[in-house]
Amino acid sequence: MTFETLLLPTHRAELINRLRAPQTYDIAIIGGGATGLGVALDAAARGFSVVLVESHDFAKGTSSRATKLVHGGVRYLAQGNISLVREALHERTRLLANAPHLAQPLAFVMPSYKFWEAPFYGVGLKMYDALAGKSGLGATEFLSRTETLQLLPTAHQDGLKGGVKYWDGQFDDARLALALARSAARAGALLVNYCAATGLIHEKGKLAGLRVTDAESGQTLTIKSKCIVNAAGVWVDQLRLLDGQAIGREAKPMVAPSQGVHIVVDRSFLPGDHALLIPKTADGRVLFAVPWLGKTILGTTDTPRNDLAREPVAFREEVDFILGESARYLSKAPGPADIRSIWVGLRPLVKPPEDDGERTQALSREHTVLVSKSGLVTVTGGKWTTYRAMAEDVLDNCFAAHLLAKRPGGVTADLRLVGAQPSSHKISEPPGIHQYGSEAPAVLALPGADRVLGGGLTEAMVRFAARHEYARTVEDVLARRSRLLFLDAALAKSLAGLVAALLAEENQVDPQLTAFLALADRYLALPT
Ligand SMILES: Cc1cc2nc3c(=O)[nH]c(=O)nc-3n(C[C@H](O)[C@H](O)[C@H](O)COP(=O)(O)OP(=O)(O)OC[C@H]3O[C@@H](n4cnc5c(N)ncnc54)[C@H](O)[C@@H]3O)c2cc1C
Repeated sequence: MTFETLLLPTHRAELINRLRAPQTYDIAIIGGGATGLGVALDAAARGFSVVLVESHDFAKGTSSRATKLVHGGVRYLAQGNISLVREALHERTRLLANAPHLAQPLAFVMPSYKFWEAPFYGVGLKMYDALAGKSGLGATEFLSRTETLQLLPTAHQDGLKGGVKYWDGQFDDARLALALARSAARAGALLVNYCAATGLIHEKGKLAGLRVTDAESGQTLTIKSKCIVNAAGVWVDQLRLLDGQAIGREAKPMVAPSQGVHIVVDRSFLPGDHALLIPKTADGRVLFAVPWLGKTILGTTDTPRNDLAREPVAFREEVDFILGESARYLSKAPGPADIRSIWVGLRPLVKPPEDDGERTQALSREHTVLVSKSGLVTVTGGKWTTYRAMAEDVLDNCFAAHLLAKRPGGVTADLRLVGAQPSSHKISEPPGIHQYGSEAPAVLALPGADRVLGGGLTEAMVRFAARHEYARTVEDVLARRSRLLFLDAALAKSLAGLVAALLAEENQVDPQLTAFLALADRYLALPT
């Protein structure tokens, strides 16, 4: 068998034709982020007929803008949220096993400058180890000053007492989302990006289907489904509102969006293989410096927002805050001129009814599943790390509401995702063919495998993205198949023309070059 026959093509015309074919699906999912894709994979793996529509590109929303940590969440431990941490620690292990080419263990060092810090945080981290139990990735260790500087050579030396080293994981979020989409497709699901849910169809007060609009053709299609899952991230309330209007019940908004900014700088600011954790910033948050794909990610913030922008913009204070806090801990402090990219994600925090929406750190970070009177199953909140457990919970809710006939769960616990293969390369290394795992030979077999466009991206990778990874636009390739927009927006901009020409040849549609150039400028611009 050739590589090509093992790979599913993602020809758009074919996908749209399948979408058009009359069929009543078991489950229709709105939203192609971590949550929706996780549900699609679980449902398809249990043998349900599944369709998923994504208004933009898979992971275009929050799911490509994470801090890239596969983690239990040390900060939730500090908040006493033991069950959330325990579940996430177990899911962490599963994810590292099911997608080892995209998710791996990462050691973190917390430097201590006060005599009480290492023992205080060290005890908490030992508890983190205990909660992980057999899922632990390595024991927490107390470090001397010298050992701390060996692992974090650029940590400030003045007043450094020592540190604590502990283990968590890191991943490539957008590529993991694609692996989920493609694994769900392999299990029989139909997934279509650039296809928004624009209407809900009710019959006798019960939800019976969706109206979706193909963004490329402008055509509206109807999808019939027994069960409809609203996994639209921070945008879930728009669909809940539509549902409420149709059945004469006002749906109260449940999401309080909060934005998190990351800035990316060169690896020289944090050489080595260890991430830096700042346990308590001036505003009481945790801040990370994480080595990722050859660069260093610094972040993040937590700022309430009232709008739901597709491309939220950082506030100047947020960037200043990240740079300022980094300067407190790094001897070589990054300044504004060192920033390679700035990106912002919206957290779908779930709002308790009495909350005034101002204190986002106090809002629930656990996921919530709600089933409306008409049968709309809404899921939001949670985190990337726990997408698999969330999917099981969503399906349990569908069964409990009698929208689907029960089928046993646990099918994704050990399900290896597309491309899964242990890797000798670290996620912290610059991007390259190793990110494709077991699919690397298939990429190398395509035309242009030796033609490097820049930043580890080859002509063959662009062709692979168009043929097998649902890529339609320059942004799809440079932001989410390769991560260059997030790593180095100027470099991404300089490659955009080459990528556009290849995509136009592969897909015969406008690859939206001008829009990408404008977007790259926004990732580069320092907010005023
Ligand atoms: C700054 C930040 C850092 C984070 N860091 C981490 C981390 O390190 N580790 C971790 O585990 N978690 C992290 N998280 C949390 C994690 O990223 C999110 O919980 C997760 O990505 C949410 O996924 P989602 O699918 O619910 O939402 P999204 O990814 O936003 O997906 C929702 C999708 O629905 C689509 N959509 C909306 N409306 C429609 C419609 N009408 N029709 C069709 N599609 C529609 C959107 O385009 C979008 O793609 C972080 C979150 C933030 C904000």
